[in-house]
Amino acid sequence: MQRNFLEMPDNQGYFGEYGGQLIPPELKAIMDGINDAYEEVRKTAAFQEELSDLYTNYVGRPSPIFHARRLSARQGGARIFLKREDLNHTGAHKINHCLGEALLAKHMGKTKVLAETGAGQHGVALASACALVGIDCEIHMGEIDIAKEHPNVVKMKILGCKLVPVSRGTRTLKDAVDSAFEEYMKDPVNFLYAIGSVVGPHPFPKMVRDFQSIIGREARAQFLKLENKLPDMVVACVGGGSNAMGMFTEFLPDEAVKLVGVEPGGKGLDTPDHAATLTLGSKGAIHGFSCYTLQDEQGNPLPVYSIASGLDYPGVGPQHCYLKDIGRVQYEAIDDAECLDAFMTLSRTEGIIPALESAHAVAYAMKIAKTMAPEQTILVNLSGRGDKDADFVANYLSL
Ligand SMILES: *Cc1c(COP(=O)(O)O)cnc(C)c1O
Repeated sequence: MQRNFLEMPDNQGYFGEYGGQLIPPELKAIMDGINDAYEEVRKTAAFQEELSDLYTNYVGRPSPIFHARRLSARQGGARIFLKREDLNHTGAHKINHCLGEALLAKHMGKTKVLAETGAGQHGVALASACALVGIDCEIHMGEIDIAKEHPNVVKMKILGCKLVPVSRGTRTLKDAVDSAFEEYMKDPVNFLYAIGSVVGPHPFPKMVRDFQSIIGREARAQFLKLENKLPDMVVACVGGGSNAMGMFTEFLPDEAVKLVGVEPGGKGLDTPDHAATLTLGSKGAIHGFSCYTLQDEQGNPLPVYSIASGLDYPGVGPQHCYLKDIGRVQYEAIDDAECLDAFMTLSRTEGIIPALESAHAVAYAMKIAKTMAPEQTILVNLSGRGDKDADFVANYLSL
């Protein structure tokens, strides 16, 4: 079985049978150009130093590792540690790759960075990175989402990006992707489409993973220093899969460290209302790459649902599909009720309000800790903070 994870993907963008560039030839030429520019620039000291300086002095890296003592004591069993990506500037891990993409755009002499956003998290992180780097930014967002996500909408406007409301179709994420993509195709030579996770055609799954892998590089060294050993288990939530790949990459060669990706089980795996792509999906293609997808008999993406809007994607990053097939990462689902319980419990035992996305990973750690020995440890990637979810949860639980 192929285990050369660190050399992945191959030069066609494949992780085993997943990934690639399922796109028209004119777009393939553009993507190859982005790959060439990335491969060239990433090897230069100037680029790495600029990115590293921004991680330290703009994002606030390294993010700490926190031993959640009261949460661990409450659950019993293994001790739970949190990698605090929630403390990053802009409140989540997304800024790690948005800075990389904005710097690459500047380096390539692009005039505009474009993207879609669902809940607005990717939009705010990208608008911040573009303001910092000094490049135009245009974000497409469905009208339904604009109405729901007011705080992020005003932040994007304050940050100076052009916000384009999308009124077609379901007026949510999928239509925003189509709309942003059409704008991109008007001038792909001068624009950069900044994909928000480890998805899309090659080289984006590789590039976004590389930019996010700072999380695991820091975490592995920090944990060794703290505990003199590696964690027994590392847990992260999976939407498209960027925070999880960012955390897992450095641990992949450590066979003794169990890696667990947590998908949104929504209202239950026996209902249509979930987004557990790796747990229940089948091999297919979406947005220019092949991966596990939740699809109907004709191969069209099914509507997906999660209480955490950052997790409701009917595809998943190609490297996760490969890691599932070879058994290196295990994928589990956590439902809305378990997620909400973890959201409230972490808030009330540690004074940390997690993003609903991250609460899925916390919930799995809470559940599995009880079955493990007290000398064992679990490291959870706390991908973001829950400020954006506070009003929703308070309403939902009638607090
Ligand atoms: C967007 C988001 C996610 C999901 O994206 P991945 O690419 O799967 O990491 C998870 N957590 C937070 C806080 C997010 O904002």
